[in-house]
Amino acid sequence: MPDRKILLEESDIPKQWYNIVPDLPHPLPPFIDAATGQPGVGIVPRIFPKEIIGQEISQERWINIPDEVREVYRIWRPTPLFRALGLEKALKTPAKIYYKYEGTSPAGSHKPNTAVPQAFYNMKEGTTRLSTETGAGQWGSALAFAAGVFDLKATVYMVRASFDQKPYRKMMMNAFGAECIASPSNKTEAGRKILAEDPDNKGSLGIAISEAVEDALVNEKETNYAIGSVFNHVCLHQTVEGLEAKKQLEMVDDYPDVVYGCIGGGSSYSGIMWPFYYDQVTKKAPKETKFVATEATACPKVTKGVYQYDHGDTAKITPLVPMHTLGHDFIPAPIHAGGLRYHGISPIISLLTQEKKMTTEAFNQLEVFDAAKLFIQTEGIIPAPEPSHAIKGAIDEALRCKKTGEAKTILFVLCGHGFFDMAAYDEYFSGKLQPYEYPTEKVAESMDKLHKLYPWLNEVNKKYISCETY
Ligand SMILES: *Cc1c(COP(=O)(O)O)cnc(C)c1O
Repeated sequence: MPDRKILLEESDIPKQWYNIVPDLPHPLPPFIDAATGQPGVGIVPRIFPKEIIGQEISQERWINIPDEVREVYRIWRPTPLFRALGLEKALKTPAKIYYKYEGTSPAGSHKPNTAVPQAFYNMKEGTTRLSTETGAGQWGSALAFAAGVFDLKATVYMVRASFDQKPYRKMMMNAFGAECIASPSNKTEAGRKILAEDPDNKGSLGIAISEAVEDALVNEKETNYAIGSVFNHVCLHQTVEGLEAKKQLEMVDDYPDVVYGCIGGGSSYSGIMWPFYYDQVTKKAPKETKFVATEATACPKVTKGVYQYDHGDTAKITPLVPMHTLGHDFIPAPIHAGGLRYHGISPIISLLTQEKKMTTEAFNQLEVFDAAKLFIQTEGIIPAPEPSHAIKGAIDEALRCKKTGEAKTILFVLCGHGFFDMAAYDEYFSGKLQPYEYPTEKVAESMDKLHKLYPWLNEVNKKYISCETY
């Protein structure tokens, strides 16, 4: 009988993160300053520490993990790799299914992998407070924990819909010593403006980002902003997942044919994928590996969105980012995978998709919870709704294997547990869950507005990402 758990020692925690940037098929397009239409990073240098900015633009393939960060990682890393024997048996598949479980961290997800180094570098450079946004509450809890470890204060703007749906996340942030405010709030100009137009606004990640960034700008001296996904440095920090998983698979003499994960902003998926992609480009891999990211049909930024420049936030404070987008004014349906409701995606994921180095699949929340239910009852872990999209992808692949008789090795990242998502499960089990599908016309509407706002946008798209979108 194969082992169910494949475990590493604390001394196996990676000493370096892997940076994919030098191994991309072509250089990443620059950020564009919306005021000038020229390459520029706008407010970015005012809200991040220098070390983080250095990592954001780094061309180095390997970046050292500070000892102080590894020391905190030891609280929960290395995380276990599981062989999904129960699930395999239920599916009667010849495929082997493995999952890297990041739910054992203090916040219950992969997010502390980046929250800890971000808090550390800020502390080193004299920041005393961090501001951030959170959707489902995972990132807010992670940053609250990490800020506490390094004696920093933390203010978290939490999307109103999730704030009401998941009160325990707020309490968790409070327990770690952070302040959690429902967004839109009247603490910021961005929030007040939205509330004036619509007092019942349920918020979005885009709005919460506007509020958190404004907070950091207004209190520039002592406050910095920390981001939970999308940016290169965040994805970089997450590569501890894939680096460990590779070692763990080596221990059982296996290697993935396909790697699944879910994409909100793309950090947990980058974390598992990049180290295996490295094997592909350096020809170190024993076989060809397929990379498949999964998203929600309610927020289909890659499968239905447009690859072009757009703002990262609703109030248009951030520079224009080259990514797949549904439009910065995107207001998501209230699906339960709060972490997948962001309108954009990591520019690296966008580039890799565009260059056909990876693919994406979208699932609705009903089929996703069906998959989660089977996983719970065969593996004994209650997954968060977000990685349940990856579970759905992995199950479909395993069922394809059953048809063809192929004994593929499937790896996915189970990036968080769903202990704070039981209200969502309750809705599912009582038959009230809706399978939302974001309408294509809505994407077109948002793009219309964006191009009216910046008539030069198409030229910039053509020049920097070789895409004519409009
Ligand atoms: C934040 C989060 C996500 C989405 O973010 P990525 O950057 O795409 O990983 C997905 N699942 C969980 C559990 C999260 O906390």
